[in-house]
Amino acid sequence: MTTRTCLVTGANRGVGLEFVRQLLARGDRVVATCRQPGRATALNALAGDHPGRLHVLPLDVAEPKSHAALAAELPLALGEDGRLDLLVNGAGVLHSGERFGKVSAAILEDSFRTNAAGPFLLTQALAPLLADARPEQGRRGARVANLSSELGSIAGAGRFGTPSYCISKAAQNMASVLLAHALRERGIVVVALHPGWVQTDMGGPDATVPAADSVRGLLDVIDGLAPEDSGSFRDWQGEALPW
Ligand code: NDP
Repeated sequence: MTTRTCLVTGANRGVGLEFVRQLLARGDRVVATCRQPGRATALNALAGDHPGRLHVLPLDVAEPKSHAALAAELPLALGEDGRLDLLVNGAGVLHSGERFGKVSAAILEDSFRTNAAGPFLLTQALAPLLADARPEQGRRGARVANLSSELGSIAGAGRFGTPSYCISKAAQNMASVLLAHALRERGIVVVALHPGWVQTDMGGPDATVPAADSVRGLLDVIDGLAPEDSGSFRDWQGEALPW
C-alpha cells in the first residue's frame, strides 16, 4: 500500500493525539496541527521519533486567518504528490456547567466557531489539496472525518444539557452533509463520526472508552468507507446514528 498523508486538528492531546500515534504506527505521513506547537510536548517527542514523517504546524480552527496560513504552508510539508488522503477534524470544545437562563452568547459563539464553522471552513480552505479519486490508478479519493458527537443528534436529544456543545455539533453535522455533497464528484468521502465516550480531558473521569480503542475503531470505520457512505453519521464501531 502507498504511504498516505493525513492531517489532524486538535492533535496535541486527547483523541487527536491518539490519531497521530496510530497513523504514524501504520506508516502514514502526518501533519499534526495544534494551537501552540511550542507547548505540544507529546507531539514534539513523536516528531523526534519519526523524522520526516511528522510535521507539527500551528492552527487555531476558530480563526479563518489561521486556516489560510496553514493552506499556504502545507504544500511544503506534504509529500511529493502534494495531496492529503485523510483530514481528521478533531479539534473541539465543550463548555460544561451551562444552565438554562444563564447560557451566554460568548460561549455559544465560541462553540460554533470551533465545532461547526471551524471544520467547515478548514475543509473548504484545504479542499484543493484533498486527493481526488483516480479509479484508473486504483487511487481512492480523500476521506474527511469530522469528529462529531451523539450529543449533536437532534433525534437523540433527551434532556437540557450543554446547549453550546449540542447546538454546535448539530450544526457541524449539517456542515458534514453539505461538504459531502460539495466534494462528491471528486470521489472525496465526508463523514460525521462519534468517537464514543472517550477517556480524555473532555470525556472526564467516568468515560468508558480508552482513546486507543476509540481511534482504532474510527480508523477501521474510515478505511471501510465507500463513496456511497459519504454524508453519513456513525459511531466508532460503525453503527449508523440518527441525525
Ligand atoms: P479534548 O478536550 O481532550 O481535546 C480537545 C482538543 O481540541 C485539544 O487538542 C484542543 O487544543 C483542541 N482545540 C480546542 N479548541 C481549538 C481551537 N480553537 N483550535 C485548535 N484546536 C483546538 O477533547 P477530545 O480529544 O476528547 O475530543 C476530540 C473530538 O471528539 C472533539 O471534537 C470532541 O467534541 C469529540 N468528542 C469527544 C468525546 C469524548 O468523550 N471525549 C465524545 C464525543 C465527541 P488545546 O490543548 O489548545 O485546547
